[in-house]
Amino acid sequence: MQYKRILLKLSGEALMGNRQYGIDPDRLAEYAQDIKTIIDKGVEVAIVIGGGNIFRGVAGASRGMDRVQGDHMGMLATVINGLALQSACEDAGIQTRLQTAIKINEVAEPFIRRKAMRHLEKGRVVIFGGGTGNPYFTTDSAAVLRAIEIEADVILKGTRVDGIYTADPEKDKEATKFDYITFDDVLKKGLKVMDTTAFTLSQENKLPIIVFDMNTPGNLLKVVSGETIGTKVNM
Ligand code: UDP
Repeated sequence: MQYKRILLKLSGEALMGNRQYGIDPDRLAEYAQDIKTIIDKGVEVAIVIGGGNIFRGVAGASRGMDRVQGDHMGMLATVINGLALQSACEDAGIQTRLQTAIKINEVAEPFIRRKAMRHLEKGRVVIFGGGTGNPYFTTDSAAVLRAIEIEADVILKGTRVDGIYTADPEKDKEATKFDYITFDDVLKKGLKVMDTTAFTLSQENKLPIIVFDMNTPGNLLKVVSGETIGTKVNM
């Protein structure tokens, strides 16, 4: 395997499958199988999960809700997704721990870096819920932050599209995909990979990001083995 320790970022929307809202158990089960495959190869897996399938603070604020209140709801949404993913992983025979950035002690462990790293060394999947624990941030920022903290080799951003394109491939038929691109080029070309806060944090810490299609079973293993699928953003 090319990567020994990875941070997988899954958006909340990814968990919807073909639904318009909420969580699709079949999609979760597929993800769990993919994760099991790489765990069995000895890869250490940490996951940051989004909450956009349930609630986004910005969406609430656009309808007059207090932004911080909305962000708290969004962070709790990521904990709900984390619990669902934890359950699916355990059904697939994977040992897991859910750690949250906001304390919900009856439900999950609090985020403790050293504990997280110990779990990883023991082959447990560590799911990080609650984002960064702060309003006005995103789970992409949480993904980069946690990846740096746990010394992950790479961030794997699992999405619906199979990489970074010259334009939005869902809108522009002429768009072409990059296999590799530098952080500087992403910024120069104004391409959207993550929000700026998350992206520059990754760049400053020289942490590569691979964007790939997580909805094709088997892709996760390919990426971790070093096959050129998706797009790799590097220095
Ligand atoms: N959120 C937050 N702080 C964080 C991470 C998330 O306040 O550190 C809130 C924010 O309201 C966000 C929501 O949680 O809209 C869900 O996260 P995100 O939008 O990143 O989820 P995704 O797009 O990955 O599904």
